Amino acid sequence: MRPSETKPHVIIRHCDSYDAERIRVIIREGLETLGLRPHGRTLVKPNLVIAGEGFEYAFTRPEFTEGVVMALKDRDEGQMQELAVGERCGITIPSRLAFKESGTDGVCKRQKVKKYYFEEQRQVEIPLSHEGRLRDYLFTPEPVAKADFFVNCPKFKAHPWTTVTFGNKAYIGIQDDRHRLIDHDAKLDEKIADLQYIIQPSFLAIDAIVAGEGRMLTPIPRDLNLIIMGNNQCAFDAVCCNIIGLNPYQVDHIRMAHERGFGPLSLDEIEVSGDVTLQEAKQRADGFEVGLIRVEKYFEGTNITAYAGPPPETEGKDYCWGGCPGAIEEAIEMLRQMDEKLDEKMPRLHVVFGNYQGAIDFKPGDRAVFIGDCAQYEGKLGDELVSIKNLYRHRSTLDPYTIKGEDILGKALKTYRLLSDGKHKSHIRLSGCPVSVAEQLLVLARYSNANDPTRDASAATSYLAWKSVMALKSLTGHKYQVHGPAERGEAKPEGMVPVAPGDAE
Ligand code: SF4
Repeated sequence: MRPSETKPHVIIRHCDSYDAERIRVIIREGLETLGLRPHGRTLVKPNLVIAGEGFEYAFTRPEFTEGVVMALKDRDEGQMQELAVGERCGITIPSRLAFKESGTDGVCKRQKVKKYYFEEQRQVEIPLSHEGRLRDYLFTPEPVAKADFFVNCPKFKAHPWTTVTFGNKAYIGIQDDRHRLIDHDAKLDEKIADLQYIIQPSFLAIDAIVAGEGRMLTPIPRDLNLIIMGNNQCAFDAVCCNIIGLNPYQVDHIRMAHERGFGPLSLDEIEVSGDVTLQEAKQRADGFEVGLIRVEKYFEGTNITAYAGPPPETEGKDYCWGGCPGAIEEAIEMLRQMDEKLDEKMPRLHVVFGNYQGAIDFKPGDRAVFIGDCAQYEGKLGDELVSIKNLYRHRSTLDPYTIKGEDILGKALKTYRLLSDGKHKSHIRLSGCPVSVAEQLLVLARYSNANDPTRDASAATSYLAWKSVMALKSLTGHKYQVHGPAERGEAKPEGMVPVAPGDAE
């Protein structure tokens, strides 16, 4: 069946195993139905936010990526100049590690396709001029800017900051950390909508064979036995939302991308086909748990008590969904994977976010951690009077070109220094906006005496390889980032026609 002339098309297919050959056939049929053939610089982006033991359900499985790569080769009529797989993984660890641990390295080797660890590529500038943008320009890795046929292959998962992570949200992986962490706060949804101006996928295929519920780094596996494909990111996300019973207009970043003209959300405007009906897909996903839980509730019943005041007024929100509170939820889940006795080991701890004005139920021997630049508190910890000042700097003072990045080693050293200085104090303050998952994880690991995640030799090897490659590149004149107009491929979005706000439900 050929796609309709006007409507974006989403295809829902049954697939109950990670069999790369089976996936290849399904994807090839999807490409055929959509009338798509890869061409020029073809770039496949899986979601490799984190991989390895304990994180099996967090990333796009290698069999899936391999099936996609093989199907793209099947559909090539000699128009592909390059076929590559690229990604920037999460929580400031080197992408080399995630490629290796996920098995994606092996896919690239077997299939003889190029791989791009995005942080090791030149970062180029993408100007923005639309109304409501957070900034006037963004940076993205050069292979993304230059792609002609972009294939987005996310993992079907819940997300603690943005409810879900489907096609639109996976774009956080098309920025290196230095640029990614700017606006990764209460404005995260706006940021994701802005990232849509960098590139639009020609094709999307999501790994929903085993989906992930509840969390993003350590999701609870949920067999959906589905592969969903499409040719428009908003329409695609809308169908994925519908599958789990979510109104796509209520997921801020998806609604914003729609309002900016990136595609429809209403099912009336989307052609849906495949060997699984939308109704059947919904039944498979019945009761699917998304990730939005406020931090106070999240820690109920544990030795950690969380207190969350609002972020600065200029953010226009009463809770920072995209920043520090969500990061601690992911940090504790990662530690639980590494140490099953974590909750028993954790001493009484108070974690405080935003402008918190209430009391802290602090007993002798407890500790408190004030987290984030916007943390603010005037009050008592037991008998001690404490004054924590707001350090938040408005986002308009931060420039993506001049902002300093900090890699995992820098963050670890800074955090260990802070912990050492605060060893005999009732409280410490973690600064940053946001304070990353990695930093919060190190603090929780130290206080609980949990198994130390930094002793991973494989991570150290990847880190050293990354740093060596970058040092060698700089000797040959490679610049980390370049200002000014960048070469763009055909996947650059064109002719966005914003939808009138009244059209949104
Ligand atoms: S410091 Fe943290 S909680 Fe405060 S605005 Fe920034 S990201 Fe949000």
